[in-house]
Amino acid sequence: MTDKIISNLVESLKNEQTFVIIKPDGIQRTLIGEVIKRYESLGLKIVALKMAVPTADMAKKHYTLDPEWIRKVGEKSIIGYRNKGLVPPSEDPIEVGNKVLGRLVRYMTSGPVIVMVWQGPHAVSIVRKMTGGTEPLTSDVGTIRGDFVIDSYQIADLDDRSIRNIVHASGSPEEAQAEINLWFKKDELIKYRLIQHELFYDVNLDGILE
Ligand code: GDP
Ligand code: MG
Repeated sequence: MTDKIISNLVESLKNEQTFVIIKPDGIQRTLIGEVIKRYESLGLKIVALKMAVPTADMAKKHYTLDPEWIRKVGEKSIIGYRNKGLVPPSEDPIEVGNKVLGRLVRYMTSGPVIVMVWQGPHAVSIVRKMTGGTEPLTSDVGTIRGDFVIDSYQIADLDDRSIRNIVHASGSPEEAQAEINLWFKKDELIKYRLIQHELFYDVNLDGILE
């Protein structure tokens, strides 16, 4: 690889963007500061943030940016019912996926949320790691979903509601870009230098001592 290609690759890796929503339960649990602190402490840079009450249309669009999402969630959910010894509400993944979507729309439109864009090295995977697995019952201790909420698919499904898991975080860089484009206008993303990034990755380490 030429030096130019390497330096472009390093720049794009260092500046990956991901999209996060603090969901209505995160706001009601007064965890805004805690959630932001966790991503900020990782060393990521926040480049966009706003508060909004999502419309049903926006919530629906958000979850169906991937046209396969309804089917995938439906399939996952049917397997989940079976593993718990329960009978799924339908054998059709699309029907079950739409049911999950309907509950999510009810949840996401119930109050204000905070939407954010975080930028930095491996932002997508590092934010997912800090966020934890989808189901709080099994998400790791030390993650946001593992530390601040108790909920399970079992209880949520029996209640016919969405699982409460405080935050949404993009699953891949492609998903992140689609979600950022949905929630933000181009000029709402601020381009600025974060001084600590220069220290983190200072190759020569010659900028500290006077
Ligand atoms: P995330 O990226 O970790 O938030 O998870 P997904 O994108 O796979 O799912 C988004 C949301 O759909 C989750 O936060 C859940 O509310 C819901 N969901 C996902 N998978 C299941 C499932 O297997 N069963 C049920 N009941 N809900 C699910
Ligand atoms: Mg997801």
